[in-house]
This record gives sequence, structure tokens and C-alpha cells, in this order.
Amino acid sequence: MVYFFGGIMIKTENPKKLYEKLELAKRQLKNAKSREERIALSNYIYCLLYSIKIVSNEENDPILKDIYGNYKNITLFNKKIDGHLDKVLRNFVISKDFHKDFFEKMFRKTTKRIKFLEEDEYSGITTLSEGDFYNIFFEFMSKLGLSKYFDKFVKDHRIYNTNVQFDINTFGYTLFNPISKDSDIFIEGLEYDIFSMYVLAHEFGHVYDLNHFNNNIADYNKYVYESFNGESISKTFERLFIDFLLENNILKDETKDQLFDMINYNYEYIVSSYIISLLPDILLIDGSYQDLSRTKIYKLVERNFKEKNSIRKFINKSCNFDVSETFTYSYGDIYSIFLKEMVKNNDYKLDVLEEIFEYRNSLFKEDMLNKFNITPDNYVKLYEKDIDILKKKTN
Ligand SMILES: [Zn+2]
Repeated sequence: MVYFFGGIMIKTENPKKLYEKLELAKRQLKNAKSREERIALSNYIYCLLYSIKIVSNEENDPILKDIYGNYKNITLFNKKIDGHLDKVLRNFVISKDFHKDFFEKMFRKTTKRIKFLEEDEYSGITTLSEGDFYNIFFEFMSKLGLSKYFDKFVKDHRIYNTNVQFDINTFGYTLFNPISKDSDIFIEGLEYDIFSMYVLAHEFGHVYDLNHFNNNIADYNKYVYESFNGESISKTFERLFIDFLLENNILKDETKDQLFDMINYNYEYIVSSYIISLLPDILLIDGSYQDLSRTKIYKLVERNFKEKNSIRKFINKSCNFDVSETFTYSYGDIYSIFLKEMVKNNDYKLDVLEEIFEYRNSLFKEDMLNKFNITPDNYVKLYEKDIDILKKKTN
């Protein structure tokens, strides 16, 4: 069945609507009722200015003074953000023994299994027509009961292509106005292929997640700055999308390549998490571990590893040492493997995700994992299914 109507472009490359959103957000900032609202809006405006810059290929960086009005506001904003980060690090140190034990098991169990992946040549990437791209993605979103979301995003021109390279391993992001709940998606080098579709699935996870926020802006800020849960739903959408393609025999080899990349990318976060959890409290609590050389970090942790060469290489090249980012992605991956099963067992209805919404804005607590029966052993049981799909590739 063809759902695609000619004449509508999926990709947007004109920043006009973003300028309108900027005017609205500036008014909202002026009328903000609380400091929490000002923090959330300031962050939104900052990201919006960045988005305008990259969509319109402008050279100049956003000027902070223009956003927050005056120097005093910038200082207050930064102070508030530092306060959140401080809390994250303190909380991290409190649960560090748990993280260390958890990620040591995760590391050992996944290392043993990831070796079975056959590193085949990648298949080529098929460029689809815009109509096919639309139809495949529409079908996926319909399965989740979200086809209207997707349709609205296309019709409202909220899916942007940017030609700027983001950070390593980041291929897209979602811009969300927490007051008006308006969102836009940005994808690096959007082409009509599986790769951009996979990024789009991830970003729609963020849209779904953020749209289910209540109106408490303080909770929203905690979610953004303090919790490790911010990638759980988006990564669940990635996994659901891969399963959808495999089950429907769409772009099968390319989907397996995507799964292969996803497993390797998640594995890097598991290893990084384990390494960070081995660092001494005193260096973590004030963030001074960030100033250590990679050689020094290797010396601090190497006695925990048998395969010293590969760990040394990993620390020098790929390790991510940002506590918030690393643990948000690694726990996001861990949650997602369980949440995906829950959604599928619930006939693809997403209401099961509401269980995580109840506490998603909290600092890390072990109980959160117990709620979904998340342990390294249970993770690996599900992980093996993915490894098996790729093992069979050459048989
Ligand atoms: Zn994300």
C-alpha cells in the first residue's frame, strides 16, 4: 500500500520556521514564571540557535549574551548546571561499588560473546526513493501506533538535514521546547537510506519520551541534567526498528550491518563504564579525573584486565570519560534490550513504557534496575539472540 503523497518533502533545509520558534521562545523566556523555566528555556534557545546555525550553514557561533540577556543570567545558568553535575558525580560515587560490580560482569560476559561476531564485509547501502523511505518508516510507526506523529512531522517540515558533522557517534538530535512541547529532529547528512531511517527511529524515541512529560519543569531539568535514563526510550526505538526490518525482510543484509554496528557501539559504552567505575572516588567527585592523561588512567585501571594491549588501545582511542554521557548511553542500552521485549510482548503497544516514566527523572538508584529484573545475566540472555542473528550470517 502506498501512503506517500507526491509533493511533500521529508527533508527540510530551510531554517525559516526555526527563526519563528526562536521569537516565540524568547517571549516565553521573558515571561518565564520560575528559575526552572528560565533554565529549561535557555537551554532550548541555545540548542535552537545552534540548529539555525547548522541548517543555514552560518559561520558564527550563537552569542550567549543574546540568549540570556546579560552577564548575570549566564552566570546563574552555569551555576545551576554545575550544581546538577555536582549532584550526578556525588550520586555516582555513592553507587560506585554497584556500578563497578555490574559493569565488570557486563564487560566479561559481553566480551566473551562479542568475539563470535563475524566481521564480514559490509553490504552496500541502498538509496531508496523518497516514497519508499516514507512508506517503510510509516509502516514501522504504524506498528507502534505512531503513524500520525510521523505524518505530522513530515507535513510540518520538522525533519531537518544538516551537513555539519556532530560529535563522534552522534548522528542526530531532537530539539524540544519544554513549555510548548514543540519538537524538531535534526539528522546529519540525511539520505533516503537505512542509516538515516535508523537515526530517525532513535530520534522519534526522544520525541515520544519527551512528549510524555508532565508539566513540572523542575522534573524535566532533573531528567536532562541528572538522570542516566535519557537514552532508554530512544534506544528502545532503535531496537524495535531493527526487529521490524528483520521480521519483514526489508533490507535484510543492511539491517544486519546496522545491528552489528549497534552492538559494537553499545559495547564501547559498556567498556567505558567499567573503566570509569574503576577510578578512585577522590578523582571522580570533583571531576578532576577529566584532567588525567590517558596513560595515567591506564595505569590506574590496568591491573583489572588480562588483555592489556586491547584495553590500552581502547583507553587511548575510544574510551568516553564523561560520566553522564557514558552511563546514560550504557544504561540506555541495557534498559532498551528489556524494554524492547516488553513492548513486543505487549503486542507493540507502547503503554508498557510508562513504567519507566514514573522515575525517569531521578538520580540513579539500584531499585530502578530491579523493577525490570535487569541483571547482567538476564541482559546476556537477550544479547545472545542478537549475536545469533549475526553469527548465522555466514552459515
Ligand atoms: Zn539520543
